[in-house]
Amino acid sequence: MRLVVVSNRVTIPDRYEKATAGGLAVALREALEKYGGLWFGWSGAVGEDTRQVQRGNVTYAVTDLTEAERQSYYLGFSNRALWPIMHYRLGLTEFQRSDYMGYLGVNRRFARALAGLIQPDDVIWIHDYHLIPLAAELRRRGVTNRIGYFHHIPWPSADVLGALPFSATLVRTLAAYDLIGMQTELDVRNLIGGLVDLCGARQEGRRVRLGARETLMQAFPIGIDVEAFRRLAAASVRRAVTPLRATRESLGERKLVIGVDRLDYSKGIVQRLEAFGQFLLSHPEQRGNVSLLQIAPPSRSDVPEYAELDRMSDEVAGRLNAQLGEFDWTPIRVVKKAYSRTALAGFYRRAQVGLVTPMRDGMNLVAKEYVAAQDPADPGVLVLSRFAGAAQQMGEALIVNPYDTHEVAEAIRTALAMPKSERIRRFEQLYHVIETTDIDWWRRRYLEALTGVPLSTGAVE
Ligand code: UDP
Repeated sequence: MRLVVVSNRVTIPDRYEKATAGGLAVALREALEKYGGLWFGWSGAVGEDTRQVQRGNVTYAVTDLTEAERQSYYLGFSNRALWPIMHYRLGLTEFQRSDYMGYLGVNRRFARALAGLIQPDDVIWIHDYHLIPLAAELRRRGVTNRIGYFHHIPWPSADVLGALPFSATLVRTLAAYDLIGMQTELDVRNLIGGLVDLCGARQEGRRVRLGARETLMQAFPIGIDVEAFRRLAAASVRRAVTPLRATRESLGERKLVIGVDRLDYSKGIVQRLEAFGQFLLSHPEQRGNVSLLQIAPPSRSDVPEYAELDRMSDEVAGRLNAQLGEFDWTPIRVVKKAYSRTALAGFYRRAQVGLVTPMRDGMNLVAKEYVAAQDPADPGVLVLSRFAGAAQQMGEALIVNPYDTHEVAEAIRTALAMPKSERIRRFEQLYHVIETTDIDWWRRRYLEALTGVPLSTGAVE
């Protein structure tokens, strides 16, 4: 077999590098190198170019988007309609018919280009919400290969998703896949419910029958490269990477609480800052002893809801620092830039508390990275939102409801006061979970399921 991976964005690796890419990109690249393959998707650029680049036994086939396509398919339907609604945020969902048409148009164009590159023994693995209708478009063009989909973000219940215009039509296109992977069991249940309620599908256990086609649904919680993170974090102590050394100098003996998130409303950053403020208000003896470092690289800044979040987070951090700070102590630092994985590993290791409190998240890899980076002899404590997919696996974290400011504030206090024996016990259990379900495990399990699933030969309705 040859493996074909399709994702919204494709980064063609430099001839010799491998180190700068994230865990998922590396894992997919390794799978492509193992089987030989093709990675297809958007170049990330606006223009009219399409090109193919060969790296070893892997072909990278990328295409530009026009500005109109970027606006409708990417910024519009994917990021202002699908992203919020999949994160249960009906109030933030902005639907425009023209965006949806642009989304379908790009999926059609991708299918046209891809269909010509597919070989008979290819196994096709499509990633994420930008490309939901891609398999249906490929089937329409006569592609009969195995096609799998992995949904990296949450999937809400049918009555939430049903509010999105055309949702039934969109969900129906999923029947073109042979295997659909979700992050958690809850997502699988919601997806099956959606197919049944919105499209009239029939459920037989984990299999869903729609018209002449049958599709298998399964949870595959995504993991990280635990060993690589552990090594990076341990090395950061020995080598004292620059940002870490500077943090040490500016923090002195003070404790550190860390948050690391793209600046996205799903991450609960503003609510987290408020909770940290509440913690300092309720426990005045802690003032001056601990700071929150929130790393928040800007994301999708040309979407208005993100610009608003950017403003709000500055406002809340500014207010709390003015209200609670001292001349020699700043309670909250929000740093709006991206750090390398090496630097992050160092920050995680230095922080006594990892504060991961999304309002809703598919998985949340930061939670796993924080654990992987801890010193096993003196580990920090993870505070984790119950609405992160990771909470399904990481029950030994301090699990909180991010909508409850008081509860999060008290969890910060509990984490800071936790005796070492309990920290070690919780850490060991969490580490065991992330180590046994790491990124290689995820990729292997998904591909085994995809290559083993019985082929459904029925036509798409
Ligand atoms: N990340 C990074 N530099 C930063 C902030 C984040 O490399 O400054 C990485 C982080 O290490 C993690 C990923 O971005 O691997 C974020 O993944 P997560 O699942 O937590 O959230 P997503 O951004 O995919 O919603």
